[in-house]
Amino acid sequence: MSSAGGAAKETPGPMKDPLDLLDTTSLLTGEERDIKATVARFLADRVRPHIAGWFEDAHFPRELAPELGRLGLLGMHLEGYGCAGTGAVAYGMACLELEAVDSGLRSFVSVQGSLAMFSIWRYGSEEQKQQWLPRLAAGEAIGCFGLTEPDFGSNPAGMRTRAVRDGGDWILDGAKMWITNGGIADVATVWAATEEGVRGFLVPRAAPGFSTRDIERKLSLRASVTSELVFDGVRLPDSARLPDARGLGAPLSCLNEARFGIMFGAVGAARDCLQTALAYADARIQFDQPISAFQLTQRKFADMAVSLNTAMLLAVHLGRLKEQHRIRPEQISVGKLNNVREAVAIARECRTVLGANGVSLDYSPIRHANNLESVLTYEGTSEIHTLVIGQALTGRAAFT
Ligand SMILES: Cc1cc2nc3c(=O)[nH]c(=O)nc-3n(C[C@H](O)[C@H](O)[C@H](O)COP(=O)(O)OP(=O)(O)OC[C@H]3O[C@@H](n4cnc5c(N)ncnc54)[C@H](O)[C@@H]3O)c2cc1C
Repeated sequence: MSSAGGAAKETPGPMKDPLDLLDTTSLLTGEERDIKATVARFLADRVRPHIAGWFEDAHFPRELAPELGRLGLLGMHLEGYGCAGTGAVAYGMACLELEAVDSGLRSFVSVQGSLAMFSIWRYGSEEQKQQWLPRLAAGEAIGCFGLTEPDFGSNPAGMRTRAVRDGGDWILDGAKMWITNGGIADVATVWAATEEGVRGFLVPRAAPGFSTRDIERKLSLRASVTSELVFDGVRLPDSARLPDARGLGAPLSCLNEARFGIMFGAVGAARDCLQTALAYADARIQFDQPISAFQLTQRKFADMAVSLNTAMLLAVHLGRLKEQHRIRPEQISVGKLNNVREAVAIARECRTVLGANGVSLDYSPIRHANNLESVLTYEGTSEIHTLVIGQALTGRAAFT
């Protein structure tokens, strides 16, 4: 039998944050909470007041890069070369807060750190690391990662971009499509087919024959630069090749790094939508009552809070597996598939709570909903992650 004192200890106090229904904050270390709070404070001052305008104007604020660098957010989970070297969950918390403001901002940080920097950090020569990583970590230089081509997205094995040896050099020809940061990048990690298999190359912006064209008319990730990269006989020394990258497994391993940040980021976008909708529903009166008092509205909120909190539990669990070097690609697929799918559903449902105001950029849900359409597609579409999980369950690959 429990004593009266014991019973009192079992009674929880009032909920600190109704959105954190399951108290997932208690799963975080003090350092992780501090990082999350610091990033949220910076964004509240520097970014949140401007983000709807940047989205509307299709503007990425390049000048933010050094500020993000000073905060340690670029290549945050990498060790050495000016990188912060934090744990996976701390990095996830930063992604969550960034995407709570806008997926475009989180995409910039993901591509810079998890794709451009990680590819150099994991597969580059010491000289390449010294040349690029400290500047990329500081936000003085910007990187991009070119894998997708106009005709090959889900199936990068079919890539047509080719690098051919010419004496001690390589000649690169082809095109990459839908490349985040492409038009503003100082260096591009480019994946190309060679006679020896897929290889990665670092292509500096100034390389003769290398040009970029920004993709206009996007209705998603408008506060992010997305570009086509064109290589017309670009001559590169062998020292531009990533020496440890052999085969398609190399770029795919980079994508796993970025997907990891996405599964946290999606939780942030969903949280911001729910927070906005809850506040709106409290203030909006119809039939002489706040719309939050209607059972149908509460059902929406309850369902969304359940999926938001389970998405957060999933992300933190997978983060801990990553920190213990135990995470498997199909588990990352579970995280990316579930959390982005749930975030899309939450963003759309929150938009309905706002009625007509829900289609205005004055409120965040429609911007998040539009952004999340890209997040659903990039770094492996939902269908491809479903097939990865299907293969893990059945032992049969159903991709072709
Ligand atoms: C805003 C944005 C930014 C991006 N940034 C980058 C970047 O920085 N670097 C980069 O390399 N790429 C980037 N991408 C590209 C992205 O990774 C690709 O769009 C994605 O891999 C899908 O490729 P695709 O668009 O060619 O679609 P496709 O591969 O043509 O697929 C079209 C549809 O067919 C489905 N499909 C394909 N194969 C199968 C199958 N076997 N079974 C069932 N269904 C299938 C897909 O799931 C999808 O629904 C970006 C994309 C966007 C939208």
